[in-house]
Amino acid sequence: MIDTHAHLDDKKFDSDREKVIQESFTNGIEKIVNIGTDLKTSRLSVELSQKYPQIYASIAVHPHASKHFALSTVSELEKLSANPKVVAIGEIGLDFYRNWSPREDQEKAFKSQIELAFKLKKPIVYHIREAFEETWAIILETKAYQLGGILHSFSGNVDQAKKATELGLYLSFNGTLTYKNSLAQEVVKNIPLDLILLETDCPYLPPQPYRGQRNQPDYVQYVLEKMSELLNKPFDELEKITSSNAQRIFKFP
Ligand SMILES: [Zn+2]
Repeated sequence: MIDTHAHLDDKKFDSDREKVIQESFTNGIEKIVNIGTDLKTSRLSVELSQKYPQIYASIAVHPHASKHFALSTVSELEKLSANPKVVAIGEIGLDFYRNWSPREDQEKAFKSQIELAFKLKKPIVYHIREAFEETWAIILETKAYQLGGILHSFSGNVDQAKKATELGLYLSFNGTLTYKNSLAQEVVKNIPLDLILLETDCPYLPPQPYRGQRNQPDYVQYVLEKMSELLNKPFDELEKITSSNAQRIFKFP
C-alpha cells in the first residue's frame, strides 16, 4: 500500500515519529509521500525523504499559509525541488471553508505555484475545500491538468469527479471514505479504477475505527478495506491497482 498524502513532520508525531514510520513499513506500507504545507514543512518533508528510502516529498505552500507567500518563496521551493526525491508540487489550491488566508492571496499563491510546477514539470497535489468551481476555472485557464495531478481528500460530488477524471486527474481517498454517509462512497464507484489513490492525510482524518485519535500511514488499510467493499473487488487486487496508479503519477525514482 502507498500512502500518497501524509504529514509525518507534524508535531503530533514528535514523541514517536520513528516508531510510527517503522510500524507502518512493518504493516505493509511500501511508500509514503510526505506533503509540505509551507517552506518549513516542505524542508522537513525533504529531510524525511533523505532519512528513509521509502519516503518521498511534495513541496509547496498550502492555501491556509498563502498570506505568507512571497516571491522569494518560489525560489526557495525551486532550490528544494533539485532533490530527486521531490516528486510533486503541493498541496496547493483554494480553501474557502476555513479562509485562513484572504482569497486573493490564495489565488496568487496557487497560480505562482502552478507556474513553478510547469517549470519543474512536476505533477500537482491539489487541496480544494468549498472551492471546486473556482479551483477548476484556474486549472482550465492555466492548463495545469497537462502536468497530471491529484485532487487530494476528494470531497466533491460525482459530477465534479467526472470533470476531473475526464482530464486524467487522479482522486485520492482517505479515512473519510469510511465515515457514514460520506459523499466519497458514491464518487469512488463512479470513476475509473486507474485514477484512484489511497492516502491518510495523517495525523488528520483517521478511519472509522480510530476516529478521534491520531491517524498514521498504515491505517490506510481501512480505507482500502472500505473501497474493496464498495467496489466489490478483492483487497489485494485494489492494492496492486492503487500502488501502480501512484507509481504512474509520481514516477518514484
Ligand atoms: Zn494534507
